[in-house]
Amino acid sequence: MVKKRLASGQPCDKCAQAEEMLKRRGLWGQIDEVLWAVEGESHSPGAKVAARHGVKLAPFFVLLDESGEETVVTSALRLVRQHLDSAPVVEPPRADAFDPVAAAKQLEGAEPAEILRFGLTHFGERCAIAFSGAEDVALVDMASRLGLPFSVFTIDTGRLRGETCEFLDEVRRRYGIAMEIVFPDAAEVSSLVTRKGPNSFYRDGHGECCATRKLRPLERVLGRFDAWVTGHRSDPRASRELPAVEVDPIFRGSSERLVRLNPLARWSRVDVFDYLRRHEVPTNPLHERGFARVGCTPCTRAVSAGAPNRWWWEDQAGEPPGADPGGGI
Ligand code: SF4
Repeated sequence: MVKKRLASGQPCDKCAQAEEMLKRRGLWGQIDEVLWAVEGESHSPGAKVAARHGVKLAPFFVLLDESGEETVVTSALRLVRQHLDSAPVVEPPRADAFDPVAAAKQLEGAEPAEILRFGLTHFGERCAIAFSGAEDVALVDMASRLGLPFSVFTIDTGRLRGETCEFLDEVRRRYGIAMEIVFPDAAEVSSLVTRKGPNSFYRDGHGECCATRKLRPLERVLGRFDAWVTGHRSDPRASRELPAVEVDPIFRGSSERLVRLNPLARWSRVDVFDYLRRHEVPTNPLHERGFARVGCTPCTRAVSAGAPNRWWWEDQAGEPPGADPGGGI
């Protein structure tokens, strides 16, 4: 399905209505991929498909038959009447009725998009992608192409770099998503910085500040979902490979158990950037400036490959950190 996004970042009304109609009839699962034609951006994926087929209206649909031949359908109703199988609406299971062992087996060796499709098919908007403002934008891109309902959140610790804030905005507009921005509890942050100052992590370690600004907000937001999607990749030094799907060993969801999907577990950083390049996905400019992680301003820095770029002072006992380069609350 090709949908049109207006320059304002909103999807066009007709595209939203067509999607709503397909979902109401339980047919949305038969849409393999959604491409956006962005107003004024002839290089956007949907605009390229529209140009290839000479279509000037949105939404439209491209059907691919077994011989690889493409047929364009410019009416959602005609698509329903002539091309889609009617399907019963299936109520997805809640996390506590979900069998993670069977799911992990089923997804052994699956590609990230398939793992994501599995999670979104089961949980829909009760499944949230945790977006960190880094290369895990690949997950948002994949989910958007699948065309299945999903939620996205990110945690604004109050210490993010300006580039990351701008990048969050770019991703919201590019994909037309209502990304939830989750903040730490203001009273907790105020208490911490009043007692210890804004940069206590340089003296006491990062634990207390991270718990206040990241972990507790994460706990809070996950408590509203049945499943979440992380951008975690398997650490080659770890004793076990990260599974594609599992019950979260730490956090709890809305029905006590929380399912965690790790679609990028088998990918390396190179694989992720290869995907981003191939699909012309926007990236945080900090990556090009040597930031392997794009987290909080005072705790990350640009480094050459292999050197620690986060909380580096904790590995170098006695060496005082540089001045806080700015940003933050
Ligand atoms: Fe605090 Fe640094 Fe952790 Fe950010 S990364 S929450 S500034 S300790």
